[in-house]
Amino acid sequence: LAQLYGPLNQLGYIYRSVNQSLVDTEKLLALLNEPTEVNDKENAPDLVVNSGEITFEDVNFSYDGRTSALNGVSFKVPKGSSVALVGESGAGKSTILRLLYRFYDLGEGQGRILIDGQDIRDVTQKSLRQAVGVVPQDSVLFNSSIGYNIGYGKLGSTPDEIEAAAKSAQMHDRIMSFPDGYDTKVGERGVRLSGGEKQRVAIARTLLKNPPILLLDEATSALDTSTEKDIQKALQNLVKGRSSLSIAHRLSTIASADLILVLREGQIIEQGSFKELLAIEDGVFASMWADQVSSNDDAALSLNGSSIK
Ligand code: ATP
Repeated sequence: LAQLYGPLNQLGYIYRSVNQSLVDTEKLLALLNEPTEVNDKENAPDLVVNSGEITFEDVNFSYDGRTSALNGVSFKVPKGSSVALVGESGAGKSTILRLLYRFYDLGEGQGRILIDGQDIRDVTQKSLRQAVGVVPQDSVLFNSSIGYNIGYGKLGSTPDEIEAAAKSAQMHDRIMSFPDGYDTKVGERGVRLSGGEKQRVAIARTLLKNPPILLLDEATSALDTSTEKDIQKALQNLVKGRSSLSIAHRLSTIASADLILVLREGQIIEQGSFKELLAIEDGVFASMWADQVSSNDDAALSLNGSSIK
């Protein structure tokens, strides 16, 4: 027995730490599925967010030290504004989000990423991640109640807070249709939620977390019109008053973004509002747009070279 105890204990430890790290990072999403590779500097201070302004300053990044994933990327997300990233597959959209979340640190001479003037390499990862909410394409649900899955956005949240977040995320009515309301088990062993419902759970979680900065990776999969409308409304409620960077696939996000960055091979090749980009003669965005409009019907439009329907 004693011989077994060691390994068993160790297994328990591994299980706990794996479990913990899933919880800590919200299994950060298909989007951010790499393990964290960065270390905090000694005595690093916490990030202090005042307005939530994000600045990318001449950012260059390569995963393998040879091919460039980002090349001279500079832009600003002013306080409370929304910036949408578009571009074909492999253009560098996810890399921008991963760098802002500090899944990788920029090396010397690779530029800087600042939040309210603080280089994100100089502050603690914990405080950075506290300030940044992430809504992934495909959220992870725990095999627990729907209430737990939402309340997890903020430790110790009350049932009233959970309900308010679910309402704002356009999920409350759906939850009330479940047999046990907020106590209904979801996940593999309970009620299975659709992609759109899972995304609204992630939005509700993030509303509870209440971060000043948001990273959004919109779902590419087709959604029916009413789900699409619900998600749009939920996202509007979430994005309001926060600085956001979205990988945009949807018409609504692209049209209403304060700034659209068009990426190709790691570079920003066009930028402006929707109207401004459409007005560029022979513009890349304008031609992507024309292609999509001619071959599509509605809001499931994709501008990222992924599946269109
Ligand atoms: P998609 O729309 O397909 O998600 P994207 O615009 O988000 O594409 P990125 O994922 O940022 O593109 O990829 C940018 C470049 O970096 C691509 O050339 C890609 O092959 C490369 N890349 C991305 N992730 C890794 C990785 N973990 N290791 C090595 N190279 C990577």
